[in-house]
Amino acid sequence: MKVVFIGVGNMGGPMAVNLHHSGQEVIAVDLSEVLREQMRAEGLATAESPLDVCEGAGAVVTMLPHDQAVESVYIQSGLLDHLEEGTLIIDCSTISPSQAKRLHEHGEQAGLAVLDAPVSGGVAGAKAGTLSFICGGTNEAFERAGPILKGMGSNVFRAGNAGAGQIVKIVNNMLLAIQMVGTAEALSFGVDNGIDPKVLSDIMKVSSGQNWCLDKYNPWPDVMTGVPSSNDYQGGFLVKLMQKDLGLAAQLSRASGSSTPMGGLAMSLYDAYARQSDNNANLDFSAIQRLFRGEL
Ligand code: NAD
Repeated sequence: MKVVFIGVGNMGGPMAVNLHHSGQEVIAVDLSEVLREQMRAEGLATAESPLDVCEGAGAVVTMLPHDQAVESVYIQSGLLDHLEEGTLIIDCSTISPSQAKRLHEHGEQAGLAVLDAPVSGGVAGAKAGTLSFICGGTNEAFERAGPILKGMGSNVFRAGNAGAGQIVKIVNNMLLAIQMVGTAEALSFGVDNGIDPKVLSDIMKVSSGQNWCLDKYNPWPDVMTGVPSSNDYQGGFLVKLMQKDLGLAAQLSRASGSSTPMGGLAMSLYDAYARQSDNNANLDFSAIQRLFRGEL
C-alpha cells in the first residue's frame, strides 16, 4: 500500500523506516530537508508537501509535535479534501482529545476513515519497532490499520471511539509522572535517613510500594544499569515531553471537571525543575530525583 508518512523527527523517522522495511511503499514528508535527506539515505521516497504525493495513497500516517501542526497538516492545508474516499488516516502524534475529535469529524465528513493512535515506548521503541499503539476510532478503522501499525510496533490496543486513544495515553502518562515523583521522594527520604538506595529499592520492589519506576526505571543514579539515571539523565523520555503531556492532562481535566490534584502537583514540580536551568527540560524525566536531593 502507498503510505504517506508526515513528520519524520525523532519518533517518526525510525517508524517510517520500519514501515518501509515491513513492505509498504512509504513516502516520507517533513518540513526539514535534512530529515528528508536522512530518509532518502534509508531508501524511502520523500516530498516537501503531502499534497504533491497523496494521489493514490491508501493511508496517511502522521507523527507531529502538537495540536497546531495536526490542524495545519490536515485541515488548514486542505489535505483531507485531496485524499481519495476511504483513505485511512492514522494520527500517532500526542495531542489533545478535542483536537483528535476535530480531525475525526473533518475526516469523516470527507469520507475518510480516521484513527487516533498515540504511542508508548519512546525513541528506543520506535527504533526497535516495539511501540504500543493506543487507538481511538471505529472498529473498522482499527482493523484496517492493523497491518500498518504492526509494521511499527508490537502492541496494538483499541481504547474506544474517536479521541479515546489520546485520553488513555494522557491518563497513563499522568499516572507515570505521579509515580516517578513519588518514587523519587521516597528514595530521597530513605537515603536522608541512612538507607542505601539500592537496598531500599530492592525491598520496596517486592513490597507494597512496588511500581514500574522502581522495577524498570529507577531514578536514583547507579541503582540500575542501562537507565537514564545511571547516564547523567541523558536520553529517554524528556522532561519537556512530560511537561507537554501533563499540560494536556490539565486541559482534559478542566474540560471534564475531574479532580486531578496529584497530576497538578506533578506538573508544578516538573515545571519548577525545568525552570531551574535551561538544560533541565532536555534531561530524562527521572531527573526529577534531583529536586529531592537538595538541588531545588
Ligand atoms: P520531533 O520534533 O522530533 O518531530 C516532529 C517532526 O514533525 C519534525 O521533524 C518536524 O519538522 C515535523 N513537522 C512539524 N510540522 C510539520 C508540518 N507542518 N509538515 C511536515 N512536517 C512537520 O518530535 P518527536 O519527538 O518525534 O515527537 C512526535 C510526537 O510523538 C509528539 O506528539 C510527541 O509528544 C510524541 N511522542 C514522543 C515521544 C518521544 O520520546 N520523543 C514518545 C511518545 C510520544
